[in-house]
Amino acid sequence: MATAHLAELHRSLGIPADYGAARHLRPFREADTDRLILVGHDPTEGKPVRLAPRAAAAWRRMRDAAAADRITLLPLSGFRSVRRQTLLIRRKLAAGRPLDDILRYVAAPGFSEHHTGRAIDIGTSEDVSVEESFARTAAFRWLRRRAGAFGFTMTYPRRNTHGIGYEPWHWCWRPETTRGHARAGRTRMPTPTLAPT
Ligand SMILES: [Zn+2]
Repeated sequence: MATAHLAELHRSLGIPADYGAARHLRPFREADTDRLILVGHDPTEGKPVRLAPRAAAAWRRMRDAAAADRITLLPLSGFRSVRRQTLLIRRKLAAGRPLDDILRYVAAPGFSEHHTGRAIDIGTSEDVSVEESFARTAAFRWLRRRAGAFGFTMTYPRRNTHGIGYEPWHWCWRPETTRGHARAGRTRMPTPTLAPT
């Protein structure tokens, strides 16, 4: 998406022009939608969850490894277009939520890792809430230990440097970041540098 178009879109939503700079975030390129792979359906609304090919393959390996440990990982949300992100924000604004509040958990259009098709929101059998409660599940504890070995990183840990809310459910396939961090099944969380949900 062209930068000029994005700037115009942000103006129309009331998002400040310095959004990216102020939060040390950069815009993401949208995945090639023709190549997205279906990895499942969200259990609440049944919407298809799609990921970019390599992220989809890594997700399947991770899901299967979790299942072997009797942990159920459920895909809740994957690829999201800039257009869809815009609609999401417009809907929340229409419902009367203040923009600052919305932007704490929803990235400005163009700045969501979900645009890349590499980010996935994860739930488990007893928690598909996309809330902090996910951090208290066995699935989350499994992810903390093992996700790095599959190239997945939790982008927004507590007290991250972007002033973005804690998102224990949001993981991004970024093997270039996790390589060297995953040792003996333990993952050190790298400093996040990307955008929120
Ligand atoms: Zn997310």
